[in-house]
Amino acid sequence: GRSYLIGGNWKCNGTAESLQTLMKEFDNRGPIPKNVEVAICAPDLYIPLVKKSLRSDIAVGAQNCGVNESQGAYTGEISADQLLDVGVEWVIIGHSERREGFGMVGEDELLCAKKLKVALDKGLKVMFCIGEKKEEREAGITMDVCAKQLAPAADLLNEKDWANMSIAYEPVWAIGTGLTATPEMAQETHASIREWVKEHVSADVANAIRIQYGGSMKGSNAKDLLAQPDIDGGLIGGASLKADFFNIIHGVP
Ligand code: 13P
Repeated sequence: GRSYLIGGNWKCNGTAESLQTLMKEFDNRGPIPKNVEVAICAPDLYIPLVKKSLRSDIAVGAQNCGVNESQGAYTGEISADQLLDVGVEWVIIGHSERREGFGMVGEDELLCAKKLKVALDKGLKVMFCIGEKKEEREAGITMDVCAKQLAPAADLLNEKDWANMSIAYEPVWAIGTGLTATPEMAQETHASIREWVKEHVSADVANAIRIQYGGSMKGSNAKDLLAQPDIDGGLIGGASLKADFFNIIHGVP
């Protein structure tokens, strides 16, 4: 079967001091079960610090990377090879906050798919985020939205690329709101996403790929979500900035 993947997304939070305190708390939270892979996606600036201070059984990730295939005149960007150079293993691509652009200019489906391809080609592992907004769920087009976000990726990737990525299903209305999808609701969408991958990529890829749930996941609701057959982990924002993150890790079946 598939192992679990629990990602922490610290977003644009923390200072050197606060993150060091948090990493010390993580040290005291006991072992990570063998069937769970854990990664923390930190703000880029603090990645060297996190590489030094984070317990060694947790991998380090970033939250975005440049779409360009190499370094160069791309002011303000950080390239995939620079992330690799400082020991980053994972990167989140296509988070809804970046797709929406913080009320300014966001990243469209094609840009997210191109970033995904570049990151995988360079050797990063990717948590690729998809998910619908509240009005889209209410309109009954959740899976259409997810398919529209996955389709350009399926066009650009080779079948072997899928081995190095996960899909993070994050319903936008559940992010940072305290509203979690019910386990049944999340399971239904995860199963539809897996079916989409089966139809558009292959049955082998659909069977192997991990689909994480994200959106107000915390220690108290993780167990029921992770017990669902198509939920293979989580991508956690707020609760990853607390020791409660470990209650999620310890909530895997
Ligand atoms: P919250 O866990 O804070 O809802 O954030 C989820 C998320 O966006 C993870 O990428």
